[in-house]
Amino acid sequence: MSDQIIRFENVVKSYPGAVSAALDVSDFSINRGEFFSILGPSGSGKTTALRLIAGFEEVDSGRIFLDTEDVTQVPPNKRNINTVFQSYALFPHMSLWDNVAYPLKMARTTKLELRRRVDEALDMVAMTKMAERYPHQVSGGQRQRVALARAFVARPKVLLLDEPLSALDLNLRLQMQHVLVELQRRIGITFIYVTHDQGEALSMSSRVAIINGGRIQQLGTPNSIYYQPNSRFVAQFIGKSNLVAAEVSHAGSGSAMVSVCGESFSLPAARRNGPTELAVRFESLSVTASDEAAPHAIRLRGQISDVLFLGHACEVKVRCQDQELIAFTPARKDSPLKHGQHVCVSFNPEDCAVFHD
Ligand code: ADP
Ligand code: MG
Repeated sequence: MSDQIIRFENVVKSYPGAVSAALDVSDFSINRGEFFSILGPSGSGKTTALRLIAGFEEVDSGRIFLDTEDVTQVPPNKRNINTVFQSYALFPHMSLWDNVAYPLKMARTTKLELRRRVDEALDMVAMTKMAERYPHQVSGGQRQRVALARAFVARPKVLLLDEPLSALDLNLRLQMQHVLVELQRRIGITFIYVTHDQGEALSMSSRVAIINGGRIQQLGTPNSIYYQPNSRFVAQFIGKSNLVAAEVSHAGSGSAMVSVCGESFSLPAARRNGPTELAVRFESLSVTASDEAAPHAIRLRGQISDVLFLGHACEVKVRCQDQELIAFTPARKDSPLKHGQHVCVSFNPEDCAVFHD
């Protein structure tokens, strides 16, 4: 059996009248049993990707495979794929139990089997006690859990989730992330999760595809995307990064040097001489008083121009020569960092990403 459950081959999709393709993906696959996320800003083509997988939209060109079968021309109801949307769309006149039972009734499952599977599905989303209620008698988060149960009860090969948590408030969203991860682990179905929320994508997924303008910008584990962004777009879209002007010399000799605010250091990843930009995450910078020992190898002198108290951390803005760098530092009740103070900003070369685009 193939390890890939979904594969795109040169898929292009445009909507009538649009100047560019809503989705343009040459080669892309999702593995069986993955919790895979598609992350991108609004209008980047995420829903289009899901609708193509589900079969609600047709490609202009290219092919889509489910398992090893070419499903490009296969209608949605023959694809064994199910979708959970942001608006949960339960049937209002049916109890929650009957809502979950509905797909199994359509599939003419035997009564005994149906009861067993509905009870099991409701148990997995912790809704057993409320099974006899109607949708309007439970909260939005509970309705979304039932919508999930209804979507996986018939055991589709793939479950598509299109921003399913975006209608919920923050605490519930965080709680539901745990529910989803645990659920996916237990039922083992491939989840393809679409979101514009980096927190959701990073915390739940085995891999993430970052999409912008209909194209995949980077695909990898949450860790690799966070620590090794391959472009300015990804560096700025995920987490918070400084983009620091730098000058590269000796590239190609195996010991490329970069110079930032008058300090030079070796950075083998730099491949082209001349001006460039380094991305350094806010939390990779340390700020220490000038007379303290700086914790990291590369040290720049500067002056604090702003301190934002965020509760759990401080965002400290430091002017170093003609550049402004921002650092996240752990907040302390008696923080010694003050506006106007002369400080040292330090970081390690391995925490810098360099872009040549
Ligand atoms: P996302 O889900 O990432 O917000 P979509 O896949 O919905 O993005 O949309 C991608 C692009 O295609 C956007 O520019 C959007 O305006 C356009 N688009 C989406 N659906 C349609 C449609 N039915 N007709 C025309 N244009 C559409
Ligand atoms: Mg969308």
